[in-house]
Amino acid sequence: MTRGRSDLGLARRGLMLILSSPSGAGKTTLTRMLLQTKELDLTLSISVTTRPRRSSEVDGIHYMFIDKKQFDAMRDAGDLLEWAEVHGNYYGTPRELVEKVLAQGRDVLFDIDYQGTQQVKQRTAGDVVTIFILPPSMKELRARLLRRAEDSPEAIAKRLANSRNEIGRWKDYDYVLVNDDLQRTFDDLLVILAAERRRTSRMRDGIANFVDNLLKEDSDD
Ligand code: 5GP
Repeated sequence: MTRGRSDLGLARRGLMLILSSPSGAGKTTLTRMLLQTKELDLTLSISVTTRPRRSSEVDGIHYMFIDKKQFDAMRDAGDLLEWAEVHGNYYGTPRELVEKVLAQGRDVLFDIDYQGTQQVKQRTAGDVVTIFILPPSMKELRARLLRRAEDSPEAIAKRLANSRNEIGRWKDYDYVLVNDDLQRTFDDLLVILAAERRRTSRMRDGIANFVDNLLKEDSDD
């Protein structure tokens, strides 16, 4: 698939694909799988955060790690498309990259919470697809958080306590997937993305041109 084009080469509008889930439901792994599938041509929106960097994380790749003063300055300047306080830290989506990629008719992937999802939906018209990932069980969620062992015991306890509230937000999303099998969940994501990309509303201009040419061809016969 070429940039901003469907399989037929029709121009289309870029969409914003939002993945949300409680910590430990597998969203980060699924995000990585989507980005590694190069032909999808997805661009990850890299958030800014005041959370301390985990040892496995790289500044500028997983997040841009900034302090609260820098965060406030970005927010006050209107540089954040959305922002939220999550588990006691601040997170936000820099506006510039998102607008640039969408203007090219390409798609942006977001790994943000439900507060941010609501803001993006309110502030942008239509081109948002939201997916909520659920863990197969609370036992598994806890096990995944402990296995990751990258947060302090207090941070893990806080994330688990918050997860019930987050899970309750599932109704606000376009799609809900239960991640009991990583490969199957990934395959479901691919199907959703393929269908959403083909929506008439996103391909309207490209289809209109195609149909114009199609009908001309017919009258030439
Ligand atoms: P973590 O600290 O585990 O990387 O992320 C904690 C939560 O913050 C996750 O639910 C993640 O989706 C969310 N998050 C990450 N970046 C952003 C952002 O830019 N905005 C919002 N609203 N949430 C974010």
